[in-house]
Amino acid sequence: MINELLNPWIRDLVPYSSARSEYSGSASVFLDANESWDGGNDGMNRYPDPFMRRLRKEMERVMGIPYEMSAVGNGSDEIIDMLIRMFCVPSCDSILIEQPTYGTYSVFARTSAVGVIDVPLTPSLSLDEDAMIRAIRSEKPKIVFICSPNNPTGRVYPLETILSIAEENKGITVVDEAYADFAEDFTSAIGAIHENPRIVVLRTFSKAYGKAGARLGILVSDPEIQKVFMKAKPPYNVSRCAENEGLEALLGADAVEKRIKETIARRKETAAFLSELPYVTEVFPSQANFILIRVQDAAALYSYLLERGIVVRNRSNDPLLENTIRITIGSESDMNKLKEALCEWR
Ligand SMILES: *Cc1c(COP(=O)(O)O)cnc(C)c1O
Repeated sequence: MINELLNPWIRDLVPYSSARSEYSGSASVFLDANESWDGGNDGMNRYPDPFMRRLRKEMERVMGIPYEMSAVGNGSDEIIDMLIRMFCVPSCDSILIEQPTYGTYSVFARTSAVGVIDVPLTPSLSLDEDAMIRAIRSEKPKIVFICSPNNPTGRVYPLETILSIAEENKGITVVDEAYADFAEDFTSAIGAIHENPRIVVLRTFSKAYGKAGARLGILVSDPEIQKVFMKAKPPYNVSRCAENEGLEALLGADAVEKRIKETIARRKETAAFLSELPYVTEVFPSQANFILIRVQDAAALYSYLLERGIVVRNRSNDPLLENTIRITIGSESDMNKLKEALCEWR
């Protein structure tokens, strides 16, 4: 079933066999990969493991992501790009996205000459299930991207809605759960992959796990899709440095948990503060580590904050988001500086 959805040239691809992917077993002398001998068998002189086995075992232990259903990419961004290139035929296929949402889905589609079908959210920024299903029926996209909690709105969509869209979609449905760790009472789509193997879930080390600089994205999918990803990806896409950073984050899972709690508490407190400001007309409820607000004049507020040395995102150019600003939840001192600046405006 997955095979039929793949690009024919990906389906027929003979994988590049790297030195480190051919070898399995136990050895102590490695003369197979033209690496430097200086540094031992497990140092930076050695290529990283193409399968990221150590990291994925730890991901299973700490995050509960089944080992045989996981792969790691150079950020989720690489995985998004790869999925589009695995499934979509250039100048022929298209992807379907909600609007507004994370910007890279459409950028990666366009860099591969893949079409983009936009389905606007409802005015209250929830998923328009009927409109999505209508568009799926008429346009037959190869991939549907759903981001939950959505960036830049912070909204979580009901899992039933996501699953009924995924059921209707005969192509791949990618559920991007980058902000899942910040959502309360969240149910992941990972549990639905067994019933519908066309569902793919994205997670990342960039947000709650605090490793944006390492570039570590997670693909959770049916093992069939894993196999294709493994043969289509660059052999050493994730560096040893990144792997070490990921392992460090997972070993410090207690600290991650603590930081998540602190971020959620600060999100609530910041939302309450923002809703008291006279020029803030709307504070959108958020389940992520940022808050979207509507103000009287977003451009003016953005420039004012910049003058005060504070950078936020002006999202006003996104559909439905006129005069909105997205604010990431920072440290306590960051938020105090923000509050001080906001109080002194006008
Ligand atoms: C930040 C973010 C990601 C993470 O991307 P990485 O490449 O893993 O850093 C993925 N999806 C969404 C919606 C995001 O906002």
